[in-house]
Amino acid sequence: MKEAFYITTPIYYVNDVPHIGHAYTTIACDALARWHRMLGKRVFFLTGTDEHGEKVQKTAAAKGLSPRELADQVVTNFQGLTPALTISNTGFIRTTEPRHYASVQDLFRKSLANGDIYLGEYEGWYCVPDEAYWTALQLADGNCPTCGRPVEKRKEPSYFFRLSKYQEPLLDYYRKHPSFIRPESRRNEVVAFVEGGLNDLSVSRTSLSWGIPVPEAPGHVIYVWYDALTNYITGLGYPTRTAEFKAFWPADIHMVGKDILRFHAVYWPAFLMSAGIAPPLGVFAHGWWTVEGQKMSKSLGNVVDPYEMVRKYGADAFRYFLLREVSFGLDGDFSEKELIKRANSELADKLGNLLNRALGMLGKYFAGVVPAPGTEDPADAVLSACGRESVQAVAAAMDEVAFHKALAAIIELVTKGNEYVQSMQPWALAKYPGKRARLGTVLYHALEASRVAALLMAPFTPTAAQKLWEALVPGGVPLENARIDRDGAWGGLATGVPLPMACIVFPKIEP
Ligand SMILES: [Zn+2]
Repeated sequence: MKEAFYITTPIYYVNDVPHIGHAYTTIACDALARWHRMLGKRVFFLTGTDEHGEKVQKTAAAKGLSPRELADQVVTNFQGLTPALTISNTGFIRTTEPRHYASVQDLFRKSLANGDIYLGEYEGWYCVPDEAYWTALQLADGNCPTCGRPVEKRKEPSYFFRLSKYQEPLLDYYRKHPSFIRPESRRNEVVAFVEGGLNDLSVSRTSLSWGIPVPEAPGHVIYVWYDALTNYITGLGYPTRTAEFKAFWPADIHMVGKDILRFHAVYWPAFLMSAGIAPPLGVFAHGWWTVEGQKMSKSLGNVVDPYEMVRKYGADAFRYFLLREVSFGLDGDFSEKELIKRANSELADKLGNLLNRALGMLGKYFAGVVPAPGTEDPADAVLSACGRESVQAVAAAMDEVAFHKALAAIIELVTKGNEYVQSMQPWALAKYPGKRARLGTVLYHALEASRVAALLMAPFTPTAAQKLWEALVPGGVPLENARIDRDGAWGGLATGVPLPMACIVFPKIEP
């Protein structure tokens, strides 16, 4: 196992306003980053913004700003996601930074030098809002096939990347790295696309000025994807072979929406192969969200604002819903009603309830001090086995990037914990002085199930998990230093330690 873990979000286009899609990708990456830290790995987690291109230039002009001034203003919309969503990214890259210019130009020079980039002429139907050229065949009734808006014919000198040369090397890479593209269904799509043949790719424009200049070619600006994708190595210090570059490259996971998988799974590894740099180890394409059963769009006015969701429900409940609701990789439907239902029935009624019942009885019967457990009886053994299994189930689920399975395993543990308390009836045991040792054992196990659940929730609901952990492990190892192998072992709850009477971290949300 690689001792370092490198995960990235796509860079977000600054001309957009953050919506649920951005939040989803970033939260998914954050859960993985936090999980891998708990495995004891060094983690680099990069996110950032894509700030070049025609749309930024046009919006800036309309506002009487330079493109850079506009980018400086709107980048904060994305940087603000880090505190709002409790994101633990270690880096933030803006494509307008000098370090990125150096990186892109270095990569470009390498492929120019070996003949993989050559000067040609590009012609096509261009959709300005999408910054995309289309062939006549691709047009839908003469308009842009993605947005339906009119297109204009354009022709210009352009540098091309010899993508056609990389068909076999890419197919070979996919064969040798069967988990490079996940989920499996998406992998098949990409393989079929590459098998169908690859055209060389236009990587510069003369019609654009807001971008990175092509080295030694006045008038040419490097085109969208070549610029954007390179952020993933810039973030580690490329073209300097920094200690971080050596430790973290190749990336373990580029997390992407399914619409940009092709760029990451076809173009990007080819650019890197050409420059003699190892391709990434994995690209994971997740699904999209509809909102209350409808496609999300500005015209429908149903765009979900992550900042508003956090104000209304807190980051933990929002994060929980997004990762719990759908099988990661598939599409899902966002509904505030369902978010409230999930948060109340699982976080408050199951996780919060187990802990608070146990803490309440500990306060009442043991003055809040954790008793040493006695010998395990069969019911205790069932619960402790469930605790061990849930740790293994979460580990397996995180390995396959299946957040919904990980969360289901944690909810299963606290459900079993609540059932255990219900059937052991500690309040009945408390009536008999002769059953005091048994009472102590029962409360110990109920609290231990809560402690293991709190640890496992750390990647998903970090703020709540932190508070739960502080309540159950006062003065112990801080949650950010907790390790799954050590702290996830059943029986880790310290005895003789006073705990609070209550710890309310998941208050019921009023619908
Ligand atoms: Zn379009």
